[in-house]
Amino acid sequence: MRRSHLFHQSSSFDNRLFSIRSIALTSRFQRNKYPTNLSYPSVLFSSSSLSKMSCSATLSLTAEVEEKRKFYGDEANSLIKELQKVFNSGKTKSYEWRISQLQSIVKMLEEKEKDIIEAIHKDLAKPHLEAFIAEISTTKSSCKHALQELKHWIKPEKVKTSITTYPSSAQIVSEPLGVVLVISTWNFPFLLSLDPVIGAISAGNAVVLKPSEIAPATSSLLVKLFEEYLDRSAIRVVEGAVPETTALLDQKWDKILYTGSARVGRIVMAAAAKHLTPVILELGGKCPAVVDSNINLQVASRRIITGKWALNNGQACIAVDYIITTKDFAPKLIDSIRTELKEFFGENPIESGDMSRIVSKSQFARLVKLLDEDKVSDKIVLGGQRDENKLRIAPTIFLDVPQEAEIMNEEIFGPLLPIITVDKLEESYDIIKSKPKPLVAYLFTNNDQLKQHYVKNVSSGGMCVNDTVTQLTVPGLPFGGVGESGMGSYHGKFSFDGFSHKKAVMYRSFDGDASVRYPPYTPQKEKLLKALLRGDLLGVILILIGWSTDEN
Ligand code: NAD
Repeated sequence: MRRSHLFHQSSSFDNRLFSIRSIALTSRFQRNKYPTNLSYPSVLFSSSSLSKMSCSATLSLTAEVEEKRKFYGDEANSLIKELQKVFNSGKTKSYEWRISQLQSIVKMLEEKEKDIIEAIHKDLAKPHLEAFIAEISTTKSSCKHALQELKHWIKPEKVKTSITTYPSSAQIVSEPLGVVLVISTWNFPFLLSLDPVIGAISAGNAVVLKPSEIAPATSSLLVKLFEEYLDRSAIRVVEGAVPETTALLDQKWDKILYTGSARVGRIVMAAAAKHLTPVILELGGKCPAVVDSNINLQVASRRIITGKWALNNGQACIAVDYIITTKDFAPKLIDSIRTELKEFFGENPIESGDMSRIVSKSQFARLVKLLDEDKVSDKIVLGGQRDENKLRIAPTIFLDVPQEAEIMNEEIFGPLLPIITVDKLEESYDIIKSKPKPLVAYLFTNNDQLKQHYVKNVSSGGMCVNDTVTQLTVPGLPFGGVGESGMGSYHGKFSFDGFSHKKAVMYRSFDGDASVRYPPYTPQKEKLLKALLRGDLLGVILILIGWSTDEN
């Protein structure tokens, strides 16, 4: 299956002028090497853009940027060394430091709510309320949960020991990993930057955040806010695009959490492998929603709309990517979604202020290409309107596009929704399994047997039955993918665990020093050891008092 590699062509192609500001190192870097507001490094490092240039020009410019990147590599190296020093001092390990940083994040969210919402609106035209709920309130809940639970999370966890080590005790001690890197993406540019950072701080690490250059207003706001509210000796933001991320990835980190496409996920993992750095990859995929007929149709339609168009206009990793329903039920479902869409976004949804716009021209072009593909465009049953100047595409539903169409083989990440019909819902399994494992699989049904069967038979990062998206509000649930949709997870305690090492510690006393474990090995010792390993207490006693038989 061709995956969503286009995301990254876009990121390099149509980067708006992007001011590269490395917080850590800024002044020297900016003054000497890059003119301000320089976008060409991002362009130069994309293979697609390179191919557009003449060969010699490419070579000389690449060499020039390579030289600059090397410089930036040095800066990245000094940054990590500086943070390692602070980490090694033990500062970030203290409970008080962690709490104070988390409290500052809550304060920042309260005091800068307006600025954050405005920056996100600049980047995506995300409706204010949606930004507040999905980015600010969610980040605040995550931070408050960490504040509330941290004292429990950091406690060593007792583990039972066995007779072999008697007397002893054992525990699992969570220790911070060191200096960690968080690379985030543009669709929830605030939440997806802050939430992993909250996990990294809770676990007692020093952390560098690299926000996405595709959401430049939020990226530069994050720089300001981190400077103002957080301890810059241990928590930094480095802005930039591909060259800057590459320079960061060249360094040895203690963990990397990356959110974005599987294509770049592979680049991140390959870079991490060089240093044996563990990774959490939060990727995407095609999230199916199987819709049964025995449902509350209005509620299901509203929830599907919320999990698609009211969620950054479908530009979300957990958005419903396509629906599978029965041939008989599809017309009713389409009618109901049409009615509810009108209720939510009015007669002309393309003009609605309650829906985000498409993030960039190249994302717009990518979506239009999916929309206009032969054998797809004639399957539109709702929507299809677009406005290139405003980067808007109306909520669009297709009925029974061919499985081989691009739209069924690439993560849509936008306001297009194909509905695939089947004679029986059981046929859904084959369709879902023909694609890489999704990040989330949705199901709408009142049939308990179907629920159980779906949970058992569909492999996905997560699942939600009879709703969309709300699974993310449960802090006790891990969030992460499986297979192509990612590896590792975070949220709540899973974030803390993801950024901790679980150290196995055993405590013994000098008592109970059985000579049986030491050479020279005699037949008597062998019998005793075997009885011990079998957990045969009576056998041990019999051997010790000399009553054992040969069979022991
Ligand atoms: P993006 O272009 O913002 O890239 C993500 C990050 O990778 C950015 O910080 C960017 O600078 C960096 N990057 C891009 N190309 C790079 C390269 N060649 N080398 C090193 N770093 C590079 O975001 P995107 O990839 O367009 O995001 C969309 C994808 O992210 C979708 O597949 C979506 O499903 C997925 N996503 C997943 C989650 C999740 O939590 N699982 C959340 C949001 C988005």
